[in-house]
Amino acid sequence: MKKPDDQSTLREHFAHVYGTLAMAHAAVRDGSTRYRRIHFIIRARFIKGYLSGAMKMRPLYEDERTKIAHAATCCYCGRKAKLSLDHLIPRLRGGPDAADNIVYACRSCNSSKQDKDMLLWHMSKDRFPAVLVLRRYLKLAGRSVEDANLMDTRWIDVPDDRLPFDKSALLIEWPTLESQRLRLWPDPTDAGT
Ligand SMILES: [Zn+2]
Repeated sequence: MKKPDDQSTLREHFAHVYGTLAMAHAAVRDGSTRYRRIHFIIRARFIKGYLSGAMKMRPLYEDERTKIAHAATCCYCGRKAKLSLDHLIPRLRGGPDAADNIVYACRSCNSSKQDKDMLLWHMSKDRFPAVLVLRRYLKLAGRSVEDANLMDTRWIDVPDDRLPFDKSALLIEWPTLESQRLRLWPDPTDAGT
């Protein structure tokens, strides 16, 4: 499948981004320094399965377990600082006030992120979110698109203010494995401050 563009539906975008997530997750978890054939197969299978309706993203159960396991660290920078609760998708953008959307963040990240889109905020700091944090974000984002019944609408036809996340996030290039910027959970040495 070719990479979706602004003429593609949101379903095609989510198929691609979820497939990329599954590929990256597998590769980072097994410690690969470059993508191998098995990783591309994982991505291709997910994209095909998602578009046919045979595969879906799992509920946030595992993500909640991850959150509890990392309850002492900021999910954005990995630091063990004084933590507060943050809405991953900001309330001001229409993110739900529910446990699924609440994460632990240090005060520094919390006050810097404010109501910005999580992914674009990371990019603005020349960082990329950890795979498991991005997974929660993308699941919530996909759910919001399903709830708004916009999955089969073309990317270009979806008004920016209809979604609680910035839809340009779906077009973002992911870092390569070689760059070593992809991690399952943030490492404080990446924070840069
Ligand atoms: Zn932080």
